[in-house]
Amino acid sequence: MAADHESPFIIFGAPDIHNDEIDEVLATLQSGWIGTGPKVARFEEEFADLKGVGHDRVAAVNSCTAALHVSMIAANLKPGDEVLTTAMTFCATANAIIHSGATPVPVDIDADTLNIDVARLEQHITAKTRAIVPVHFGGRPCDMDAIMAIAAKHGLIVIEDCAHAIETQWRGQQAGTFGDFGCFSFYVTKNVVTGEGGMVLARSPAMIDRIKTLALHGMSKDAWRRFGDDGYKHYEVVEAGFKYNMMDLQAALGIHQLRRVEENWLRRREIWKAYQHAFADLPLGRPLEPDEHMRHAYHLYTLAVDEINCGMSRDDFIRHMSDAGIGVGVHYRSLAQQPYYQREYGWIPENYPVSTAFGDNTVSLPLGPKLQNAEIDRIIAAVTATITK
Ligand SMILES: *Cc1c(COP(=O)(O)O)cnc(C)c1O
Repeated sequence: MAADHESPFIIFGAPDIHNDEIDEVLATLQSGWIGTGPKVARFEEEFADLKGVGHDRVAAVNSCTAALHVSMIAANLKPGDEVLTTAMTFCATANAIIHSGATPVPVDIDADTLNIDVARLEQHITAKTRAIVPVHFGGRPCDMDAIMAIAAKHGLIVIEDCAHAIETQWRGQQAGTFGDFGCFSFYVTKNVVTGEGGMVLARSPAMIDRIKTLALHGMSKDAWRRFGDDGYKHYEVVEAGFKYNMMDLQAALGIHQLRRVEENWLRRREIWKAYQHAFADLPLGRPLEPDEHMRHAYHLYTLAVDEINCGMSRDDFIRHMSDAGIGVGVHYRSLAQQPYYQREYGWIPENYPVSTAFGDNTVSLPLGPKLQNAEIDRIIAAVTATITK
């Protein structure tokens, strides 16, 4: 099919950047201080306030991948340890486990919630299991009561991958505050954008101290005072750390993005509901509605295109949408479908049937606050035309 759209291509996950952020970035550039400094400190404080935790319980870093990695190092994971996670997640979740030295152990998902299947979790626990890394998929909270009960029973660390879950709550409690660590992403397509960026929220301030050291070469906390204007101070290297610190340039974006969290969440909820309503009679698998126990972050709107029901494959569907000028995403082909993990860990897609089926069928529609009503109408019309043709 030739490109038959006249309107501009709708980019999947286009960030919503306002003049407030642009002005703050320019002011930062002109201030002479673009690296880690006062704006990062302010962004941390405002993020902590949003999550309702003390300012000493958060550390900004340069990605969620870095947040996951330093949390796992701070949790003292080591070679031989096994870490349970969901088979339906972005590769960064598994890679962070691998780079901590531990071995990721995927667990299949629940077909309705798309979150780690709590009923299967305990089957994978061995004498070597040390931690669980649940992912609040698409912004829908995992059943944290069940996960924390299993963790307590087996003495496991919990590291929540909150890349989709800035606004997520489970039974009135904020995602990222259940486990020992919660790791957030401010990547360009996420709900709060700093370009690249991440945050660790830890249960204990002592862990945040260690994470700040690990995220800056392993230099003692005094090293952070180097970023002040009160003269030169020697630092001490107390661990072999990483280069994971966030810059003021990034925080300049984040500070203003945080102020629009609620407004943007309401807009995404509106779009999510419009999609749910518009596709109700199509043979597509739609996301499960949130229930009264949760606040859904509405990060992803994922459909399942089943070839038998829809008369076309997911990849055919994607081609039709692209031809109609609409960018879509795939979140995700499951971990066991990726060659690296198959080769190194012997994972077989058939052992994770729910994740594999979803990985084969799923496609995500644009769901950003930047979308205009006319664009949403175009997306709905394109989905409907593609499925009913
Ligand atoms: C985006 C994402 C990450 C990685 O976030 P970065 O900030 O890009 O490093 C990790 N886990 C999940 C589930 C993600 O969607």
